[in-house]
Amino acid sequence: MSQLFVRTLREDPADAEVASHRLLVRAGYIRRAAPGIYTWLPLGLRVLAKVEAVVREEMIAAGAQEVHFPALLPREPYEATGRWAEYGPNLFRLKDRKDADYLLAPTHEEMFTLLVKDLYSSYKDLPLTLFQIQTKYRDEARPRAGLIRGREFVMKDAYSFDIDDEGLEASYQAQRAAYERIFTRLGLEYVIVAATAGAMGGSRSEEFLSPSPIGEDTFVRSAGGYAANVEAVVTPVPDAIPFDDAPAAHVEDTPGTPTIESLVAFANANHPRTDGREWTAADTLKNVVLSLTHPDGSKELVVVGLPGDREVDMKRLEASLAPAEAEPAGEDEFKKHPELVKGYIGPQAVGRANTGDEEGVRYLLDPRVVPGTRWITGANAVDKHVFDLVAGRDFVGDGTIEAAEVRAGDPAPDGSGPLELARGIEIGHIFQLGRKYAESLGLKVLDVNGKQVTVTMGSYGVGVTRVLAALAEANHDDSGLTWPAHVAPAHVHVVATGKDAAVFAAAEKVATELSARGVEVLYDDRPKVSPGVKFADAELLGVPLIVVVGRGLADGVIEVRERTSTERVQVAVDDVVAHVEELVRAF
Ligand code: ATP
Ligand code: MG
Repeated sequence: MSQLFVRTLREDPADAEVASHRLLVRAGYIRRAAPGIYTWLPLGLRVLAKVEAVVREEMIAAGAQEVHFPALLPREPYEATGRWAEYGPNLFRLKDRKDADYLLAPTHEEMFTLLVKDLYSSYKDLPLTLFQIQTKYRDEARPRAGLIRGREFVMKDAYSFDIDDEGLEASYQAQRAAYERIFTRLGLEYVIVAATAGAMGGSRSEEFLSPSPIGEDTFVRSAGGYAANVEAVVTPVPDAIPFDDAPAAHVEDTPGTPTIESLVAFANANHPRTDGREWTAADTLKNVVLSLTHPDGSKELVVVGLPGDREVDMKRLEASLAPAEAEPAGEDEFKKHPELVKGYIGPQAVGRANTGDEEGVRYLLDPRVVPGTRWITGANAVDKHVFDLVAGRDFVGDGTIEAAEVRAGDPAPDGSGPLELARGIEIGHIFQLGRKYAESLGLKVLDVNGKQVTVTMGSYGVGVTRVLAALAEANHDDSGLTWPAHVAPAHVHVVATGKDAAVFAAAEKVATELSARGVEVLYDDRPKVSPGVKFADAELLGVPLIVVVGRGLADGVIEVRERTSTERVQVAVDDVVAHVEELVRAF
């Protein structure tokens, strides 16, 4: 410790909201270089190397071969697949001195596809899975939580190449199983959930989430085994309802009802239902105006119609409209569309199908708004609402959209029971890309019959630096980090306390002998640092075993304890090395 390049901090960094960020900075593992960009210090690098080693071993065991691509790449391949534009502002773009366009890779599908195209030409060369552990760049809109959402981060990305769908399924399952082993070995709890493909494209995909209250992903689970990211939840569509006998729609004056709550109260007071139950927010159709920004920078307004008891979930909305980004429409946009009467928007004035205006604002409906459902909704005039407006009779949508929030208790799409919600950190993501990249980049091989066929691909990512942060989230207490033994920067933290030269000599001997037996030791040999500071640092750094050589030495004992336990064991000086070695072997 007297030589180690580390300065621990007693104060939390001002910008740190989550434990992993706070503690990794305070314990001297990382330092911030710029928003979302971090420098790795010796202790941090040791942990990172251990996480990488587990990932690498399991990739190799699964039959994948390691390569390494540059991070700095030319524009053309990304142009060919459309991602130069699709990635939008998330892509770091730059120019060389000749004014040619380059990018810092956010992920490498294009390059792997082209490499295989370069070198392989026959079905006999397949299947093939390649991987790299490499630095990625994404100009995230909201870098946050230290390593959890960085703008520069380390990813393991693997890509599989197969001749047919059956091969892809096998390659996908091999990677999926490798991921299970990786996270199990790292001691990181995970849930596998169905996911959406996002900007990656392709068909089937699953995410590995580490359950955590600070996670940005919300996922759902049912008792019957359904698990999905909320973005991937598909709303079960109710049966259509016959509406031949439904009363005609009628517009009513509803003064002072700009909110759904006020509208429901007004309706119950002035237009009570005849079937004995009260109106609720679920009987109203809410029409939310959203402003989309497409990757080319162009803007579009859309209106989403959904039951009034549900909010729009912006992440679900964006997953449905990817690669466009969405935000609630602003005053300016309302001004440009006088037909949209804020607070009183009704479907009859919006949507291409309803208005006959092919250039008009698109109107997208929640899947629950099936034909025959009857709604109270805006009448497109201030203080007026329409009652008994029937979907399929009085209005239609220009399509449906998964944008409404998913709530606890909603039915699982596969009928496996009610859903419960939890939060998680996305630590891995596996995709069956299919032929999207191979097609746009022309990756074909000859099949058994000498015919050219397009290769089918999978892509598989682990957020290596994010995994390290997730481990810190899952393993800490009020005093500091509590690393699982396999990723800790050392196995044992030996602390010499006091000023007595004999103490330092004994501590040094223990440290040296443990090292000689292959135990990784961090030895706090700082001569003029108080025991209190040394103990606090040992707790903060989070090495799993702490050995204290101090006062007990006079009585021939050394204290051994686990970082996560308050139990202190006094071990005879001569036995301490063997005792500690045994504990380490048992990790
Ligand atoms: P997110 O939804 O969190 O933005 P993503 O779905 O865009 O992630 P992928 O393209 O699936 O990410 O990348 C593979 C893995 O890389 C993710 O599962 C995650 O663990 C990691 N990762 C992605 N973005 C970041 C980031 N900004 N910082 C750290 N790790 C990241
Ligand atoms: Mg992902």
